[in-house]
Amino acid sequence: MYSCLFCQIVAKEIPSYPIAETERAIAFMDIFPAAPGHALVIPRRHSADALEAASEDLTACMTLAASVGRAAIAGLGADGVTFQSLARPAAGQTVFHSHIHVIPRHDGDQFAVPWPSMPGDVTEIEAQAERLRNAFSNAEF
Ligand code: AMP
Ligand code: ZN
Repeated sequence: MYSCLFCQIVAKEIPSYPIAETERAIAFMDIFPAAPGHALVIPRRHSADALEAASEDLTACMTLAASVGRAAIAGLGADGVTFQSLARPAAGQTVFHSHIHVIPRHDGDQFAVPWPSMPGDVTEIEAQAERLRNAFSNAEF
């Protein structure tokens, strides 16, 4: 008995539309698709999000996500692919088992990019870079 929805899919306790699987990861269809062919790739082993996942699970998921993306181009006629992973509620995550969205894209489609393409303030960009460099110099991530 699992409380996590995606652990239940891994355990085949609830139905899914599977696409592909590897030793560490599985791919299946998102049932609230952002675009036709929208798939999810998840590690078999539970972790809440990409911030918490072990590096071998992240590697396995991104590798399988790229395979699913190539399959979308070859099999669905997609022109490109959006890979997306949300971590924590502030980012909009709703299912707390780490996952990568694989969303087939077509030239000129209406899928919205979530930020305007505007140049940033270079002082602010450098200040944020400095804070991130400091974070790296103070700890291992
Ligand atoms: P996120 O909002 O990034 O946490 O993404 C969670 C995704 O899981 C959403 O796109 C949902 O549509 C999808 N989802 C929720 N329940 C299921 C389910 N039972 N099978 C497949 N996808 C699901
Ligand atoms: Zn889980």
